[in-house]
Amino acid sequence: MKKTKKLWMLATIVCVQVVFASCGIIDNTVIPDTVVLKEWQAGQTVSADVVEAFGGIDKCFAAEPIPDGVWERMQGKTYKENPYIGRGDLRHIRALHWDYDNQMHVGEMIVNREIADRVVSILRQLFDAKYPIQRMLLPDVYDADDETQMRDNNSSCFCYRAIAGSTKLSKHARGLAVDINTLYNPYYKDREDGTRFIQPATAAEYCDRTWDFPYKIDHDDLCFRLFTEAGFEWGGDWTSCKDFQHFELIEE
Ligand SMILES: [Zn+2]
Repeated sequence: MKKTKKLWMLATIVCVQVVFASCGIIDNTVIPDTVVLKEWQAGQTVSADVVEAFGGIDKCFAAEPIPDGVWERMQGKTYKENPYIGRGDLRHIRALHWDYDNQMHVGEMIVNREIADRVVSILRQLFDAKYPIQRMLLPDVYDADDETQMRDNNSSCFCYRAIAGSTKLSKHARGLAVDINTLYNPYYKDREDGTRFIQPATAAEYCDRTWDFPYKIDHDDLCFRLFTEAGFEWGGDWTSCKDFQHFELIEE
């Protein structure tokens, strides 16, 4: 088709659409994101009106048995058949969180039912304080690949896996540890040969805690205070390695 003819056709289509839209024949209105919130799609941003339509802020913070759709998404990724932890031991948390973009974001997290109420309360207090959390998606979005979700600065809790080289389950495998803003609060361990193992590998500059940068967790941080007051220990206080993103339940 000749270029001019093509352009004319395009222009005609646009004009017809504009006319139809102004007559209400074509509905060009954006689908209200109340629909999104009903389905609780983590990763979306929502307006105050949408939150109100959903039933208000309080309704946006809750722990519930894992819905069927979420459970399906977890299979073969964060959840694998095992004798230690099952669907009934876990809860699905919905929460909102703020980021530096000054917008409300939809988040979700799977945790052990033992800590579900505490984590909901902590996430609510972080929200009320406008504490910045960039992403709160289930690790299944990243095929449960820890390195990938950390590079994306995701915050999460449950992922079934044994500690490498051991039969011991990690606290994440039991849903008893929460990682927050993972790129800026990395894990590292200094090896005997003088090299440093860092997770995520892209976070080398954030291993240095002597300068100020976004999302940094330290002893003055609200996240640190809320988790430690609720019975968690902080990986940033460990001495054999450092895990600045990590809060795990202290068990007797
Ligand atoms: Zn962790």
